[in-house]
Amino acid sequence: MLMLVGFCLELVHYRVWVPMAKVHHRRGIEQATFVRARSLCRTASLATSTHTVGSVLKTYRSILSERYDQGEVRAITRSVFRDVLRWDAAQVETRKEEALSNIDSERLTVVLKRLGEGEPLQYVLGHTTFMGLDIAVSSGVLIPRPETEEMVDMIGKQGVAFQRIVDIGTGSGCIAIALRSLFPSAEVIGMDVSLEALAVARANGRSTGMEVEWLAASILEPNVGLPGRCDLVVSNPPYVPLTETTELEEHVRAYEPHLALFVNDEDPLLFYRAIAEKAMIVLVKSGQLWFEGHYRYASSIGDLLVRMGYKNVRVIKDLGGHQRFINATR
Ligand code: GLN
Repeated sequence: MLMLVGFCLELVHYRVWVPMAKVHHRRGIEQATFVRARSLCRTASLATSTHTVGSVLKTYRSILSERYDQGEVRAITRSVFRDVLRWDAAQVETRKEEALSNIDSERLTVVLKRLGEGEPLQYVLGHTTFMGLDIAVSSGVLIPRPETEEMVDMIGKQGVAFQRIVDIGTGSGCIAIALRSLFPSAEVIGMDVSLEALAVARANGRSTGMEVEWLAASILEPNVGLPGRCDLVVSNPPYVPLTETTELEEHVRAYEPHLALFVNDEDPLLFYRAIAEKAMIVLVKSGQLWFEGHYRYASSIGDLLVRMGYKNVRVIKDLGGHQRFINATR
């Protein structure tokens, strides 16, 4: 029972500052705007006088608690102190009386201002962790989600040694890079239409020491094909219908790239169909297709794959209990 409670808390913890999947429920926008205005006034006061660590922590607590619960406020504050001052949690606790230099208070103020406006922590700090790897993120790429880690983990745990892997719509490159770390002898290719995303992905490949080939191409272009003889094609493509824009949490809609999130309402399976058609041509026999998708469409994606002649089609739930992943073999 305790474990279950711990696990649920973990999910709640992720939901707010590491958004779960791409689809969320809306929070009161009017309230958020009001909170933002008040937060800014108080953030400004942090910059104008000398500050002890304790007083900065207090300001962080009062501004962040307007958006986040207590546990999240603590986790966010620790991450900020770790990144900005290189202090661990114990140092934060034991050095509360110390005065901060003007430069350090200024840096903490700039970060708090952005967090107080609702910008996700990962964009503010410029990086996140995915499958134990440090992945840089900027406004041109989606923040990697815990669900996507679940998918990569499942792919890795099958006991199949993949040799040629393609990740379509690679964004930050998180999937391609994590797969390369799980299958060090595989040739991995990460594709994206966005040059901005590819620049981030390339830098991530370099900083993690993972060799991945990065390709700039749109999977929706009829003349764009996939590299031949793949044994794994994977994608977490844009899947939020435009009509669901208002259901997204404000921080997702306001900060994450719409190119990576949205698809037209008339054809929400557009990317899945295009990828599955092209994968059918290049996948070796028993090669695998893995998709992450919208919980409302996961079973339609499964049906689509069955109709296209894929075998062993499975629709798999995420840890939150939503139908989220689709796996099939050629
Ligand atoms: N593949 C990246 C991820 O899973 C980007 C996905 C996207 O931009 N739709 O985070």
